[in-house]
Parts: sequence; C-alpha cells; structure tokens
Amino acid sequence: EKLGMNEIREKYLSFFESKGHLRLPSFSLVPKNDKSLLLINAGMAPLKPYFTGKEIPPSRRVTTCQKCIRTPDIDRVGKTARHGTFFEMLGNFSFGDYFKKEAIPWAWEFVTKVLELPEDRLWVTIYENDDEAFEIWNKVVGLPPERIVRMGKEDNFWEIGTGPCGPCSEIYFDRGEDKGCGKPTCGVGCDCDRFIEFWNLVFTQFDKDAEGNYNPLPKPNIDTGMGLERIATIMQEVDSIFDVDVIRGITDYVGKMAGVKYGADKKSDVSLRVITDHIRGVTFMISDGILPSNEGRGYVLRRLLRRAARYGKLLGLDRPFLYDVVDVVVEHYKGAYPEIQERKEYIKKVIKKEEERFKETIDQGLDILDGYINDLKASGKNVLEGSKAFKLYDTYGFPIELTKEILSESGMSVDEDGYQKELENQRLRARSSRKEDNALWEKDIYSTMKDIETKFVGYEAFKSDAKVL
Ligand code: ATP
Ligand code: MG
Ligand code: MG
Ligand code: MG
Repeated sequence: EKLGMNEIREKYLSFFESKGHLRLPSFSLVPKNDKSLLLINAGMAPLKPYFTGKEIPPSRRVTTCQKCIRTPDIDRVGKTARHGTFFEMLGNFSFGDYFKKEAIPWAWEFVTKVLELPEDRLWVTIYENDDEAFEIWNKVVGLPPERIVRMGKEDNFWEIGTGPCGPCSEIYFDRGEDKGCGKPTCGVGCDCDRFIEFWNLVFTQFDKDAEGNYNPLPKPNIDTGMGLERIATIMQEVDSIFDVDVIRGITDYVGKMAGVKYGADKKSDVSLRVITDHIRGVTFMISDGILPSNEGRGYVLRRLLRRAARYGKLLGLDRPFLYDVVDVVVEHYKGAYPEIQERKEYIKKVIKKEEERFKETIDQGLDILDGYINDLKASGKNVLEGSKAFKLYDTYGFPIELTKEILSESGMSVDEDGYQKELENQRLRARSSRKEDNALWEKDIYSTMKDIETKFVGYEAFKSDAKVL
C-alpha cells in the first residue's frame, strides 16, 4: 500500500515532533517585513528573524510544511518530472540548538526507517570542503564514500537574498536507468530526472548582509527543505510530481474538462501539467490575500493565471475554466490548509473575473502576435520590436513573459530594452494624469472584495497586498 502525499506530510511532521520539534502551520506566501523577497520560496524564508536572532522563536526546534512559489522554475514546469512553480516544502529547523551531527542521522533515519527507501538507491552531496559532513555521512550513518559526492558553491552553498546561509548537503534518489538521459556522464547532479534531488540540509553558519558580507552567526543553525511532491513521486514510484495521487486528481480533472487524456500526447501533457501547477499556486496566492495587478506579487499572480489560460486555449478550452478547477484543489488540500475551504468562493470569484477580463482580448492578441510572427518571418528577422510587445501588454493584457514564450516557440525573441522604455514612458504618463481605465479595473476588483469583506476583516496579508491595487 503506497503512502499518499497527505500521509507523507503527516509522517514527516510527526517524526520531527518526536525529536522535540514544535509543529507550526505554513506561513502565508506573502513575506512579512522582508523587502528582499516577493513571495515565500522556501521553508526557512518566513523564519529568517529567528535565524538572525531578531526575534525569539516559540521553540528552538521547529518543523513546518511551507507553501512555496518559485517563478524562476516556470519554464521547467511540465517539462521536467520534478519542478513546479508551486510546491510544498517540509522542513526541520534548529535555531542555535542542534547541528550537523543530529540533523544528518535524523534525515537518514526518516528516509530509511520511516519511509523505508532502499539504502542502495540513495546518494548524497556535500559542499567541497565540508569534511565534518563527510565524516558524519561516512562514519556515523555508514554511507560508502563513493556515494558521497563533493560539489561546488553553486550547488552546495545555500542562500536566498540576504539573511542566513551556509554550506549544505543534499539527498538524491536514483530512480533507475530508464528515467535517465543515458549519457555516459549521467550521475548525481545531472539535469535529467534519474537522480532526483529531494532533500536539502542547510548548515546555516552565516548571516549575509545587504552589502554582501558573510557574517558568522554566534550559534549555527539547521534549516532543511524536502520537496513534498518530490518525495511523494519517489515513494509512489510514479513518473513525475504530476502523477502523485493528490496532484493527479487535478491533472485528470483538467484533462476531462478539455476532453484529452493525460498521457496520450506529449504536447497536451505539458499543457495539462502547467495548468495543474499554476492553478494550485494561484489558489493559494489568492487565499493569502494577493490580487491580480500589474505590479509585484499581483503581477506574478496575473502572469500565472494568464499563462494557464493560454495553455487552456491550446487544449481548446475557450471559456473561463480555471476557477472551476479550484473545487478539486480545495478538495485535495483542505485537510492540510483549511483556510482555502473557507475562502473558496472568494478565490473562484477573483479567478473568474481575471479569466473573463483576459478572455476579451486574448484571441485578438494571439491573432496580432501571429501576424507579427509572420511579418518577422517574411522579412527574415527574429526580434520583435519593443513597442509591439508593449502594445500586446497594454492593449491586450499579454504579460511580456507570455509574449516572449510564444515567440520563443518560433525561435524568436523581444527587444526587451525597447519594451522597458515604453513601459517606463507609460508609467511617467500615468503619474502625471491618473488614467481612467486603470481606475475602472480597480473598481472592479474592489467590488469583488467588498462582497466578501466580512471574511477578511483583520486578515493581515490581505491588507498588506491591498496597496498594489
Ligand atoms: P533543483 O536543483 O531541483 O531545482 P533546488 O536545489 O533549487 O532544486 P532547494 O532550493 O535545495 O531546491 O530546495 C529544497 C527542496 O525543495 C529541493 O530539494 C526539492 O525537493 C524541493 N524543490 C525545489 N524547487 C522545487 C520545485 N520547483 N518544484 C518542486 N520541488 C522543489
Ligand atoms: Mg532550483
Ligand atoms: Mg539543486
Ligand atoms: Mg537544492
């Protein structure tokens, strides 16, 4: 009997509770008092003040399952087995309490005793000069030296923005030759999906300041992050994170709506996976108080929604459909995140409104872009003028990333400097005379908010994002 994703989450959290950790609920995707980060992208991100000593943690040992968004991975979503823009990160944290000699053996115990993964399929990496970690893996855990791989700074030194950072050690699972690229160089660290990285143990010894200095922390910390979808992929012996029980439920639902079967065609599979990924992120972002806008977090949300809508179009889904998928997302995730159940109707309304808004212009925009592509081809060029990309953005609501993505499918790109100039000009114009059409959209979303206002009174993340309107 295979463990479900929801069961794995619970096993992890209770295992670390048994090691003296306090279980905390996931923090909001909206960072608090942290200008270096747009959206929470790791379990440790909302805990930074505890690592730096700015705030006193409720316990020196904490365990969480944290919602995360990573837009830098967006192009990989649906193409690799292992990347989402939305995912959950399991973590155990020590704020100046235990260090490597506890963290490493506990990780091993969880993976081999609780999850019962076969030891001979596990590999680890360490930072090139971290002999302490080597000794623990080799002598205490008993891992043979040939399965402990030393890697450089890029892979095994962990930092996000400013704040706590340090060397790390990662655990990989060998899914077997049939999952690999087959190249003779294939091994741990290869970009293919055979050796899948699933757990990162970070030995936080430094605090990086705004000037880029690495200041040693008085007491070293532990920060680990294990991708829940990835460990579930390994445990359930499925192809990708989109085949994990909970997530497959969403993928299949979207497939049914579109009348395509998941697994039948490579291209439509990518569309199904992208939609499945983005709708989860979108649901949680709106639940955390973010609204579609042209700036900051709101822009990330809009970009995900519009990208998903376009992938829907590729599947022939011409009507607003994403809001409908929220029901399935909530069904699967409400156990771990009861708040999305409470806010479901609101989330659906916001999504539907954004879908309807984009629907008015997406067809025209796609036609125009198609025309641009043909013109470029005819004249033997492959870079779209910035002003044209700007027109698609300004008049047809195409986020620049969407335009770029569609162009790249024909081997073309955008003059981004030109685009940025147009955008800047518009901002200057808008500043001098507040534009009517923007105000209209604001009113629109404002009335949506008003409908459910009572539910959100006092909800902080919501307030903090209201300013991007
Ligand atoms: P990768 O090299 O595969 O992109 P990473 O090294 O960027 O992953 P970390 O920053 O070490 O990832 O994050 C800790 C863990 O979170 C990873 O080991 C992985 O299990 C999970 N994770 C990271 N990025 C993603 C993603 N885009 N989708 C799903 N899980 C992820
Ligand atoms: Mg990555
Ligand atoms: Mg990595
Ligand atoms: Mg990593």
